Amino acid sequence: MRVTFLGSGDAFGNGGRHQTCILLETGTRRVLLDCGATSMLAMKRQGVEPLTLDAVLLTHLHGDHFGGLPFLILDAQFRRRTQPLVIAGPTGVEYRVLDAMEMMFPGSSRTGRRFEVQYLELENRRPAALAGISVKPYEVVHASGAPPLALRVSAGDKVVAYSGDTEWTDALLDIARAADLFICEAYTFDKPVKYHLDYRTVMAHRSAFGCKRLVLTHLGPDMLARTADVDAECAYDGLTIEV
Ligand SMILES: [Zn+2]
Ligand SMILES: [Zn+2]
Repeated sequence: MRVTFLGSGDAFGNGGRHQTCILLETGTRRVLLDCGATSMLAMKRQGVEPLTLDAVLLTHLHGDHFGGLPFLILDAQFRRRTQPLVIAGPTGVEYRVLDAMEMMFPGSSRTGRRFEVQYLELENRRPAALAGISVKPYEVVHASGAPPLALRVSAGDKVVAYSGDTEWTDALLDIARAADLFICEAYTFDKPVKYHLDYRTVMAHRSAFGCKRLVLTHLGPDMLARTADVDAECAYDGLTIEV
């Protein structure tokens, strides 16, 4: 599995980074892990053709994690995509995506298209299969209008786990356990922010994760200002990892 961080920033463009958008490639299949509002720009910057995506997996329904979908779907409509697009995410994902489309481009959710958007609701700790991967969601703690999830993605014998946005929860230990790569939010260095993780808290559990590789993402201004003090690998837009 190849993992490319197209967007590694927070919601507000700090550090000039794109919002969360992580590309997973397995063989010929391509899945986007979260699709923040800046994702079309992030994909085009990195030479990723949006029409080649098979699926989008969403951790939670905040604009910096799913706000790129109206643009992705409309672009595919205008460029006459034909193959289905799977969108998997928390309970109510279909209605939230349609609402976002109507808010930004009125009428767009009801327009006829040559391709089908297939919505899949992910349930806590129930595995699902899509686009050549299997995914096990774990409910975390992050108020976003629908149950927020961390995701454990498997392809063959490789496992990539991703925290999404969350404050500390012991569910993260289940998510990260023996993963080949654990992508974990570190929004601040040590400042507690409700519903988010800070670097110090993540590192206090580093050995308990039992993951082979840890990469921090969703870096906010406080974290970006202190990278010299960070003893962990941090994502950046364009980072590619072979798992
Ligand atoms: Zn969020
Ligand atoms: Zn976020």
